Amino acid sequence: MTDQSTTAGDGLRPDEISAYSALEDRVRAGATMPLTMAAPRRGKPPRHWLDLSRDERRDAVRGLGLPAFRADQISRHVFEHLDLDPSGWTDLPAGDRTRVAEAFLPSLLTSVRPLSCDGGTTLKTLWRLFDGSLIESVLMRYGVPGVRASGSGRNRATLCISSQAGCGMACPFCATGQGGLQRNLSAAEILAQVMAGARSLRDGEIPGGPGRVNNIVFMGMGEPMANYKAIMATIRTLTATAPQGLGISARGITVSTVGLVPRINQLATEGLPVTLAVSLHAPDDELRDELCPINTRWNVAELVDAAHGYFVATKRRVSIEYALIRDVNDQVERAGLLADVLRRDGGHGWVHVNLIPLNPTPGSKWTASRRRDETAFVAALERRGVAVTVRDTRGREIDGACGQLAASVAAE
Ligand code: SAH
Repeated sequence: MTDQSTTAGDGLRPDEISAYSALEDRVRAGATMPLTMAAPRRGKPPRHWLDLSRDERRDAVRGLGLPAFRADQISRHVFEHLDLDPSGWTDLPAGDRTRVAEAFLPSLLTSVRPLSCDGGTTLKTLWRLFDGSLIESVLMRYGVPGVRASGSGRNRATLCISSQAGCGMACPFCATGQGGLQRNLSAAEILAQVMAGARSLRDGEIPGGPGRVNNIVFMGMGEPMANYKAIMATIRTLTATAPQGLGISARGITVSTVGLVPRINQLATEGLPVTLAVSLHAPDDELRDELCPINTRWNVAELVDAAHGYFVATKRRVSIEYALIRDVNDQVERAGLLADVLRRDGGHGWVHVNLIPLNPTPGSKWTASRRRDETAFVAALERRGVAVTVRDTRGREIDGACGQLAASVAAE
């Protein structure tokens, strides 16, 4: 059952609705997108406190003619209290509050509409950015006593965030991929999604009492590795201890990539124990060329080598994402082939396969695997000693599930 609710928000503008209709028509017509590696040059969002490193924050307050100690003061409000509105910061002279607000805390995200399901424990927010681009984030709380739909296990919360407006990777089964790339998000636009989720949890807006964000996954819109600089700045601020950052454990952060091999290699040198997820979806180049066009640049062997290299460098087990698509990539023989391509000297201990039941995009020719094919696929991997789980499908009825972000609002 859904308890879908549309609260607050000013809704979409007519031009946004028609843009989405056009997108859906394209998908229905089977149009394919070209790969786009570089983001189009567009206006950048205004500079924000969340974009700055610690040193830059000090320079920035000095630039405003304020003493350097104000930087830590501002950061305490921002990162410890999750407060982006200086009007109530009584430890700052009133005149300075206005100047700080104007110089460092422009509004970046406007909630267009929040949608919730799973008894309120899944919350999707559609955000409008300063230039009208739309992105989404999804907060999922698990193990809430009394809320069956939140699943079992310990009480924890995962936030799925967007790293780009749109995506240039053109995967044909993904709604975002079919919409093309609008632009990269700034670090502040990415962090602001986390701050909003953290505030909702802290303020007890999600069933289960006040809580905090335990996991952050870069699995919303966009290809994070194509916006490398901003996601690294984001991760550094996420993991910095308060008051310089949000104090979130790097182990709780997952960067998901369709396979930009040089960036995977670069991430391996950063000395950050974040989890790498690789969206493989097919073990053979012939099929992967179709499902993930980036495969024509870096093939399965190169990608799996880079993923394994990441494991060697960080000792973090790599997640392999595999969307099960009926009669396309879900054959038992492909499970065997997948086990083969993932085998390394030490076996399969370096990797974990995460199967995602395909979430069909409107008008698409593809759909999720039959239950018995899914079961057989899992069994074939397990027989070969591959650790495998099937991802839950939280947020489906609000289109909060993978690849559907922001892409179906026009259908209403
Ligand atoms: N660009 C990143 C993040 C994408 S979203 C990446 O490719 O990893 C996170 C995951 O959702 C990816 O594995 C992506 O392939 C998957 N996904 C996209 N559309 C989907 C759909 N319709 N059904 C199931 N999974 C999908």
